[in-house]
Amino acid sequence: MGRKLIFIILLFLAASAIFGADTDIFAFAKTISGRVIWDSRTGSGQLSTSRYVYNFIPGVPWVVSDKGDKIGQDAVYLKNGMIMIPDALAKAISSYQHASVKKDTSGHRVAAIFIDPGHGGKDPGAIGTHKKNGRTFRVMEKSAVLDVGKKLRAQLVSAYPDKKIIMSRTGDTYPTLDDRVKMANRVKLGPNETILFVSIHANASLKPQANGFEVWYLPQAYRRTVVDSQSIDSTNKNLLSAVNTITEEELSMESELLAKSVMSGMNDKIGKDIPCRGIKQESWFVVRNAKMPSILIEIGFVTNPKEGELLSSSSYLQKISDGIYNGIKDFVYTFEHSGKK
Ligand SMILES: [Zn+2]
Repeated sequence: MGRKLIFIILLFLAASAIFGADTDIFAFAKTISGRVIWDSRTGSGQLSTSRYVYNFIPGVPWVVSDKGDKIGQDAVYLKNGMIMIPDALAKAISSYQHASVKKDTSGHRVAAIFIDPGHGGKDPGAIGTHKKNGRTFRVMEKSAVLDVGKKLRAQLVSAYPDKKIIMSRTGDTYPTLDDRVKMANRVKLGPNETILFVSIHANASLKPQANGFEVWYLPQAYRRTVVDSQSIDSTNKNLLSAVNTITEEELSMESELLAKSVMSGMNDKIGKDIPCRGIKQESWFVVRNAKMPSILIEIGFVTNPKEGELLSSSSYLQKISDGIYNGIKDFVYTFEHSGKK
């Protein structure tokens, strides 16, 4: 250890004494694999991780998790155009993330992952036609999403030898939407087991400049019966409706977590190539009828010239698959290590 190193350490100590240990919230977010959205119009922000969303308002002495918990005692503040997070608050958020993951008592597990590449066979899905170096080429949604689906399956099979990894189609065939949902709902699960439903699509637009990827999940407001009425005392109607509401909220919360997790996984891999259009809520048929945490991913626009070219490159489709895979892996870890239920 040379004098230079000691000097650098001293300099660092001096600097932290002057500036405090507070960090820029964007830098902090990275340490917990989160991302920050700042709304300058309302003067408030959100820090979201695959597990929680933390809401903050500069000057208000805590942040609020999406579970309604107040965290920490200090306020986020603005300084020289940066959003700063006090060290104590950063620590409180880190331990909130950590503590909830630690309570491993539930024994719940993801037993199966259902991968659903959209369209196929007679239904090509979206088509983009582009010119490059005087040559015309076409990108078909059905082919791009099948390629991503197969790559994803290979990664999941090797990561999870004990989980069922199922695809709605492995070739250029056309299962109906109804077939796909039935296939997934038919998978046999134990009492504490869950299956994840991951539908993969690509976008199209009349505007060639439209670009980016997005992830959809079941909206919170969508109500339907998810609890088998046989499994609880059906003479008690109030109980039935209460249980239904809880299960549904959990289901859509899990779908939302899965969506966020996959979005940030993808953003890490392709965020430099194309923009992230964020999380969307919609009652897509496929997502709506699956009684399991479900998401629908739009991997990009086949109609955009740059993305059309990317979506016909196998190495780019592999990057998309890597991103989805990382997102699923984070979700599975959180799901299997949380103390819920
Ligand atoms: Zn589609």
